[in-house]
Amino acid sequence: MNIPVYNYRDKKIFWGKRRVNKHRILVVEDERDIAELIRLHLADLDYDVSIAPDGHSGLRLATMQRWDLIVLDLRLPGVDGLEICRQVRANSEYTPILMLTSKSSELDRVLGLEIGADDYVTKPFSVLELMARVKAILRRAKATEAAPASDREPLRINQLLIDPITRSADVAGKPVDLTAKEFDLLLHFAKNPGRVYRRAELLDSVWGYGHDGYEHTVNSHINRLRSKIEEDSANPDYIVTVWGVGYKLQVPRTTGQAL
Ligand code: CA
Repeated sequence: MNIPVYNYRDKKIFWGKRRVNKHRILVVEDERDIAELIRLHLADLDYDVSIAPDGHSGLRLATMQRWDLIVLDLRLPGVDGLEICRQVRANSEYTPILMLTSKSSELDRVLGLEIGADDYVTKPFSVLELMARVKAILRRAKATEAAPASDREPLRINQLLIDPITRSADVAGKPVDLTAKEFDLLLHFAKNPGRVYRRAELLDSVWGYGHDGYEHTVNSHINRLRSKIEEDSANPDYIVTVWGVGYKLQVPRTTGQAL
């Protein structure tokens, strides 16, 4: 199979030879210098990189093929990054997305609208940081793929059902709309019900890189997760606070209901 490569000079996509066993990354970015910078550094790490220079080609390439990662600019001519993210997420196969945003005020949109990006970097970003996040996302994806079959089976905790393959969850048979991070958090807890996690530990395992001083990120994600899966988030049945330590997923008290 070949991979699409954008040629800025002819403004055309040509099809290059695809190498076997290489991670394939799509970079959707309209600023040529930034796209090139990212491409060079990713190529240095031996990834196969394709660039889409606007929203339309980005959307087409993102949904037409399978990618190991999509680096997606938020502001694009044509179709914006939010729409592309939404359409990629509507696909049954899960593709990690790293969002590029221009202003920290846009973070609110990315997070607030809960469009389901796996992570984000704010421009101007350091290339080293971007590469660290790319590696972290790919490492996590690989760990999921390499997981034994038992780790890929749906987990049930009382009324909560979590499917690691489709990355979906439902409570009492009703689907819950979770962002990528909320799902990762929930899955992480569900793998070890009853185990207490410190916030720093959760940052490390779920976000995958040093996020010093961002422990409130964990709190706000936990709160959003609770508002989605708990009947009463002020009095949670599943994800409970262990004061002075962190959080755990508790197996709810038996209510006498059949599971
Ligand atoms: Ca842009």
